[in-house]
Parts: sequence; structure tokens; C-alpha cells
Amino acid sequence: VNVNRSQTATASARLEQIPAPLVPPDVDTPCPIVDLAVLDRNIAAMQAAMDAAGVRLRPHVKTHKSTEVARRQLAAGAQGITVGTLGEAEVFADAGIDDIFVAYPLWCGGSKAARLRAVHERTQLMVGVDSVPAVEVLAKVFTGAPGAPGVLVEVDCGAHRSGVRPTAVGEIARAADRAGLPVHGAFTHGGHGYASPAARPAAAEDERSAMEIARCTLDAAGMSTDVLSAGSTPTALLAAQPPITEMRPGTYVYNDAMQVALGACEPAEVAFFVAATVVSSAVDGQVILDAGAKATSRDVVTQVQGLGWLPGYPKAEITALHDYHAFVSIPDGSAAPALGEVVSLVPTHVCPAVNLYDELTVCVDGRVVDQWKVDARGRSG
Ligand code: PLP
Repeated sequence: VNVNRSQTATASARLEQIPAPLVPPDVDTPCPIVDLAVLDRNIAAMQAAMDAAGVRLRPHVKTHKSTEVARRQLAAGAQGITVGTLGEAEVFADAGIDDIFVAYPLWCGGSKAARLRAVHERTQLMVGVDSVPAVEVLAKVFTGAPGAPGVLVEVDCGAHRSGVRPTAVGEIARAADRAGLPVHGAFTHGGHGYASPAARPAAAEDERSAMEIARCTLDAAGMSTDVLSAGSTPTALLAAQPPITEMRPGTYVYNDAMQVALGACEPAEVAFFVAATVVSSAVDGQVILDAGAKATSRDVVTQVQGLGWLPGYPKAEITALHDYHAFVSIPDGSAAPALGEVVSLVPTHVCPAVNLYDELTVCVDGRVVDQWKVDARGRSG
């Protein structure tokens, strides 16, 4: 209990340091704002860290879903991108990005077979698998085709979502090889590093040791281990060591209240905010913002008290999000934004927040410099 208490205290102390961004005057709220200088710094810093570690960076694009941001990551030195859905792969392939890893146990039902073949024809494609039946379905999709995508076998290193134990990769890899799917290695995602600040180094170590066991298992099965891919934003900087060859963080581009609370980014590294207006202060001890559940993420995260964070108003707590209303509770005697004031809301979890918008307003020092499309918005399958 004491450990949890001290972690909570540290988390709120970190959240209190998030600087309130300059919001452009006369912005139409709710408005998703990207701080371009912070975004570019985040992209450069992650790239520099991976370069220094000798690990390839293959960022997950599910956070930004934006071809403009992906181009910036590739220009900074990223080698290919990671996607979570075939729909995302299609959007980024259409934009000319030709090195794509679908880090997901794709099951090719419905139109997915034809769609996957079409993406494979125009990209260098890699697909995740975690079962022999999925390998068989995938191989059938490419029967008679001039080539087939490479596969990485997914390993569960402790997140207990998808993936097999690292000692079990051999059977799946051999099945893929027999079915004519080129095996390149294995991948894992230490999602359990999200549990607490202390869970981050432990999950990073789990990623590394799982990839080491997978490497030995694949070696023993006579399979390639060219790619040993891991990563999440909370573990990326900690796990980037041999035998891992590739890292796939995604959230680091924008960050959010959860990453700040976990200590996975600095408070000044938050690059995405939702500008919102105080539209009502009619009820005592409360203000209402115009950024409800259709404008920011409803994710409840253990490290953050409330459904988002308002820089400059550390005692204000977002207690509920209705479709168009954010309820902000204001304890007696603490600072409250005034009726009509525009505030900046840091989402608890940025990925679903971005997915609510067609376009983002890109700013430098409170000036609007661009509008970027969220190209793969809603491409969830
Ligand atoms: N790889 C996989 C398989 C993932 O599922 C995710 C995120 O869900 C990532 C990489 C990126 O992790 P993060 O969002 O923590 O940056």
C-alpha cells in the first residue's frame, strides 16, 4: 500500500509539471492541438536513443495514424513502420510507405485475404502469427501468388494478451516455413509495463529475456532470427539492448497523462492537447468543458486521478465525460478556469483521443502552422 501511495504522489507531482501550452486565439473548441516543436523533439530523441543502442526503430503508427507524422519519423531515421490493423497498412501503403509490419495476429477472414494480397503486392510486408492455424490461413491467402509476406512469431513476455511462450515459437515457425511463409524471427510487446512505474524495468527485462529464449528456440529449429522485435513507450528506452534488434514504440510521439504519470516521458514532452472551453459554471464546485467523450479518451488509468489532466489547474479533476460535456470537479478554494476560458486537456490515453478527429491543428508557440489529416482514423480492421 505504501509503495502505491508513493507512486501516486510521484505521479501527481509529475503531472503538475506539464506546462500549459499556448493555445491559438479564437480556436474553435474542442480542438486537437499538436505542438510541433515538442513532436519533432520526441521523434528525434527516440531515434537518437535507438541509434545509440544500435537498435532499429520501427514506430507503431496507431497513435498518430497520420502519414505526415510517419514521414517525419522515417526522415529522422526510422526503418519502416508498425501497424495494428490491415486498414492502417492500406492507408500507409497508399501513401508510399513500403516497409510495413502488421504486429497483430491477423486472421484473414472476409475481405482481408484479398486486401492483404493487395498490400503485399506494393510493399515489403511482415505479419505476426501466434498459432499454426493462423499460419495455415495466411499461407492459403498466398497460394499461387508470386511471393508471400514474411512472418514474425508473436511471443507473450508477460502481458498475457496474444503470443505464445518463447519456448513454443519453434513449432509455429516450422509450420510457417513448411507452408512457404518466410520466417524472419519473433516479436513481443511488454504491455505489462503499463501497470506502474516499477513495472517498466521489469517488463523491459521480460521483453529482452523472452527474445533471448525465442532466439535460442528458433536457432534450434533452424529458423532465422534476423528480427527480434519488442517495444512499447514505457519499455523502449530500457529494453533497447541485445538480442533485441528492433523497437516499436508508438505513443512517444505525442505522449499523454498516463506516460507522464508512469515516468515514461518528461512532463515537457506532451505534444498533444485538446483545447476546450468552459461552457458552464452553473453548478457549485464544478465547471463543464465542451470536450466530452466525443473529443477525448474515456480510458480510466490507474496512475491518473480522473479522465484527463488540466495543466495549470492541478486540483481540478475530470470526473465524468458525457458525449459533449466534461465534468470538472473543483475542490473548495482551489483555482478554477473561468466561464468562457479556453483550457488545454491532456488525455489519459492519447491514441483513442486522436482517433476521434479527422484533422489536427498543428501549432508552434501558440500559432497555427498547419492542419494534418488523421489519415487512418477509424481503420480498425
Ligand atoms: N507493439 C504492439 C504489438 C503494440 O500493441 C503496441 C501498443 O499497443 C506497441 C507496439 C506500441 O506501444 P506504445 O503504445 O506503448 O508505444
